[in-house]
Amino acid sequence: MKVYVAGAYTEREMIARYIARLIAAGVEITFDWPANIVQAGKPDHEFTHEERQLHSEKNIKGIEDADVFWLLIPSGASKGAWLELGYAHALMRWRPASEPVGPHRIAVVVSGNATASNFTSMRGTIFFHDHEAAYAELAALGRLDSLPACKECGGTFGKHIEPCRRTVS
Ligand SMILES: [Zn+2]
Repeated sequence: MKVYVAGAYTEREMIARYIARLIAAGVEITFDWPANIVQAGKPDHEFTHEERQLHSEKNIKGIEDADVFWLLIPSGASKGAWLELGYAHALMRWRPASEPVGPHRIAVVVSGNATASNFTSMRGTIFFHDHEAAYAELAALGRLDSLPACKECGGTFGKHIEPCRRTVS
């Protein structure tokens, strides 16, 4: 199972620890952005235009390559994490008008304080009150050979096939 872990730049050390634990649990991380920041050797605000372009595209590709998008809801200010949640929601829901019914392309998981944004509660989003509970669920899935199917529609973890009734909750 491939996971992209999103969160606030200011909380990147906490996110790096969850990424390390997920990798230890057998989960593949599509793009390790906290490690990429360490490699870059300078803070975001010192990037050139070309560096900002390169890094933002790596983040977006990481989301596109993932089976699961996990947002650790920022406890403070963040711009990138919320943009990424929006991009993941669009991937989850989008399909051509010619295919009004079909599977979600990505599962969207959020954990933390939902009151930070109404968008943490969008239809189809899998919510956990705390990061540890979300981690435990993803680590357990990471050890499986195949993901469990939804009893209603047969879609795998969070990737429901609309109009599955579970996408409503
Ligand atoms: Zn379903």
